[in-house]
Amino acid sequence: MRRASALVCAGVLAGTGWVLGQTAPEYDFLVKGGHVIDPKSRISAVRDVAIKDGRIAAVAANIPATRALKAVDASGLYVTPGLVDIHVHVYPGEKIGDYAGGDFSIYPDGFTLRSCVTTVTDVGSAGWRNFEDFNRRIVDRSKTRVTAFLNIVGAGMGAGPIEQNVADMEVKPTADMALKHKGLVVGIKSAHYNGQDWTPYERAAEAGRIAAIPVMVDFGGNVRAGRTLHDLFTTHFRAGDIYTHMYGGRRGEQDPGTKGPSAAMLEGRKRGVLFDVGHGGASFLWSTAIPLMKAGFLPDSISTDLHTSSMNSAMKDMLNLMGKFLAMGMSLDDVILRSTWNPAKQIQLEELGNLSVGSPADVAVLRLENGRFGYVDPVGGRLEGSSRLVCEMTVRDGKVVYDLNGLIAEPWEALGPDARGGDPRWDNTRGRRQ
Ligand SMILES: [Zn+2]
Repeated sequence: MRRASALVCAGVLAGTGWVLGQTAPEYDFLVKGGHVIDPKSRISAVRDVAIKDGRIAAVAANIPATRALKAVDASGLYVTPGLVDIHVHVYPGEKIGDYAGGDFSIYPDGFTLRSCVTTVTDVGSAGWRNFEDFNRRIVDRSKTRVTAFLNIVGAGMGAGPIEQNVADMEVKPTADMALKHKGLVVGIKSAHYNGQDWTPYERAAEAGRIAAIPVMVDFGGNVRAGRTLHDLFTTHFRAGDIYTHMYGGRRGEQDPGTKGPSAAMLEGRKRGVLFDVGHGGASFLWSTAIPLMKAGFLPDSISTDLHTSSMNSAMKDMLNLMGKFLAMGMSLDDVILRSTWNPAKQIQLEELGNLSVGSPADVAVLRLENGRFGYVDPVGGRLEGSSRLVCEMTVRDGKVVYDLNGLIAEPWEALGPDARGGDPRWDNTRGRRQ
């Protein structure tokens, strides 16, 4: 819903200094006094962020609260672009044992907004045969901004032999569907293939070339004799293609001697391959991540691989995963870069993942807690950390969609008997997608 340009309101507007008769404030919503981290603009300092008509209108020091319809105090908090998680599975349905319309996937809004994630990319749960169903049931009905990589398998991530069915890996219908939904389909995915041959990767690459979008590869079963990581990066990948599960440790990521990055990983990076975390249920080991991080082999994007097997185990959520990188010694600014601007660039949606004036106002307000925390990996290893990120508030397209401590709420005693919830001009926490 867009705000009417001529505001009509009786009396003092709650939470602002605006009184009837004065000129209407120039901004709709203002996040004041937080430490802004906006890697695209290289800002890491206390700033105010002003929003109008769903877009970032200004990032500056000391914007008076009276210049906005509603202002919130974010002092002591971090204000960043809404987090961008480019590896999730959010295509739930009635099937059993499937990511494509099944119980391995989850509805995004229950797991994203409360973690300050505003954009997710479902990577390959749907293929061209079921993408329209995914679009209608999930993309169109979620408050989360949902994008997708189409699986090269037409049926998507089904159970059993479905993902091994080379006959269903068709270039043309996959590329056609991607081109039909440009900006929503932002890549092609190949995953979980157990054969020795290169067919899925060749066809994914071809579809990606036709649609001018990147390919993301989960390198499948541990079948190293017929296909190696080195060949994947040097023969089948273009610069900008994405290798996910980079710290999985099972597909030749580590040098057997040093335990640091293998020659293949170093060659891939040299050629412009992008490396994605894709934590998931079993694809992030401390015994892989720590030696690679120590050797300077950092991720390009931090992503969860959120699904039913990862959501309550070692991964948990985006903020817990970001906390793991803090615990390994990465700076908060670097963690935010890899959770916002880098992934937005990877999916070629450069209006996202930043707080530039004119960009969609997707904003995360984060609290960094200090103390003793534990971070675990899927095999039960624990790493102690001294900080943890908590999501205080999430803003999507200029509207608050999650507000942990009621920063936009009023003291209950101040409400009249006819109070019915927050003002829809800045509050979208209730109900379904508007
Ligand atoms: Zn996945």
